[in-house]
Amino acid sequence: MESNRTVLTTHVRPDGDGIASELALFQILKSLGREVHIINHDPVPEIYEWLPFSDIIKSTRGGNVPLLDSIDLSVLLDCASENRIGSACEVIRNSRDIVSIDHHEGNECFRDYCYIDTSASSIGEILYSLVPDIKRLLDRDLATCLYVSIMTDTGSFAYSNTTPAVFRIVSELIEYGLAPDEIYKNIYNHKRIGHFRLLGKALERMERDESGRVVSVLLPLKLYRESGAVEEDNEGILEVIRGLGGIELIILLRQIDETMLKCSLRSVNSIDCSHLARLFDGGGHFKAAGFVLKGDVEKTGKSIVEKILREVKECGWL
Ligand code: 5GP
Ligand code: MN
Repeated sequence: MESNRTVLTTHVRPDGDGIASELALFQILKSLGREVHIINHDPVPEIYEWLPFSDIIKSTRGGNVPLLDSIDLSVLLDCASENRIGSACEVIRNSRDIVSIDHHEGNECFRDYCYIDTSASSIGEILYSLVPDIKRLLDRDLATCLYVSIMTDTGSFAYSNTTPAVFRIVSELIEYGLAPDEIYKNIYNHKRIGHFRLLGKALERMERDESGRVVSVLLPLKLYRESGAVEEDNEGILEVIRGLGGIELIILLRQIDETMLKCSLRSVNSIDCSHLARLFDGGGHFKAAGFVLKGDVEKTGKSIVEKILREVKECGWL
């Protein structure tokens, strides 16, 4: 039997790759005549609300689980394990088939069928390469979503996953009337003042280890309150810290609510962030990974940083 009712989902706290690749696949499957729903744990971050069709995305956060029976196919995009999709899990539980399309190392391949390409910059790149006859389906909206997926996961074409294939694909995509400057502005140039206040405080709190090559920043809730910032306002802080010369690893630890903290790890050369994140049951890529833990940044932040530093030394990376 052909699958018809399809649900797409991505990880909690979705990023540009998660949201834009869902919207791209939504358009691809719709054009093939399927009934497609996008259901995520979290709502669409404000910076991606302008994306075509983003208003069809539903969130299950707070127990709002849409009732959908007889789902034939669910597709998990950009997540390496089931626990990364949060409460959207309840929606897809009874799906006949579950497929995963991902580019993370250590994907558990927990489902019926997994397409994992760790060499791909983004899910957008995978979809572009994987979907037969993609050029026949392409229009401005689809090109926009694929472009945003690739652009956000390559750090606007600045990270080492920016391969010749990436440039070949995006040069094709922008032929559909995309304006890279407008897209960039839509995503990155609408920050709130709270972001800048938080950024200022975060920069003041940058600490370096004895080698000077690891930078850590701890952001407790009180810093958000003092800055008038919300969770999404941390977006972009890491990118600023990345500019510091001579560093190998950035550790950003922030409180995300009263009980949970989140760590983002970024490596510049040869430190394996995904290995470090897995020590705390997280995951990600070699150069960008993260984990979420129960705890208080003010109480346990320092010991988490120390544990990471010990591992870095034991692995001979510093
Ligand atoms: P970010 O630090 O921007 O949230 O995430 C960077 C990378 O690490 C992303 O590829 C993301 O999938 C992965 N990552 C972040 N947080 C988690 C987490 O809690 N668990 C897992 N498995 N991966 C994470
Ligand atoms: Mn991704």
